[in-house]
Amino acid sequence: MMTREDDRGEEWEAEEIDYVFKIVVIGDSAVGKTQLLGRFTKDEFFLDSKSTIGVEFQTRTLVLNRKRIKAQIWDTAGQERYRAITSAYYRGALGAMLVYDITKRQTFDHVVRWIDELRANADNSIVVMLIGNKSDLAKSRVVSTEDAMEFAEEQGLFFSEASALSGDNVETAFLRLLEEIYGVIS
Ligand code: GDP
Repeated sequence: MMTREDDRGEEWEAEEIDYVFKIVVIGDSAVGKTQLLGRFTKDEFFLDSKSTIGVEFQTRTLVLNRKRIKAQIWDTAGQERYRAITSAYYRGALGAMLVYDITKRQTFDHVVRWIDELRANADNSIVVMLIGNKSDLAKSRVVSTEDAMEFAEEQGLFFSEASALSGDNVETAFLRLLEEIYGVIS
């Protein structure tokens, strides 16, 4: 396990990095992809969302199993609105965070489409984690934890609910994904 103190952010020299893990964040528009990314890479939540539009990826460097890993996490930057995500987005991705909003049924129903999109464009060995975001909005929940867990199991996905707003489970979910990727490549 690593702690935030292990982070040295941008101080790291390129030659000190053992691995770069490319991770793509996908899912319907407005499920919280950009905010999850900001929470993990900067421990920030932007009230004025979409401040990162146009930015292709953010990074965070950390130590895992005594290896220095640079997580390079790609944001769709709104391309999903126009169903215009190009195959370049998926190229070389070792992991995917597939996000839905626990308060919007449709975003969960569309997860199957995103899995098809991954099958068509990403490497077969990509590690996929399903994230039910906005767990802070428990009163507005329409997708049960049990349904999502069962679906994830059927599809062979890792699963976690999280909240980019409160930060709940965000770190744990990303670290789990990174650990699973490490297991695949090492
Ligand atoms: P994206 O289109 O998937 O990248 O979604 P954004 O990250 O832009 O978030 C869409 C909206 O949902 C914004 O208004 C965010 O402030 C809000 N949002 C994102 N994550 C959460 C969360 O965990 N809880 C709550 N309550 N709102 C969130």
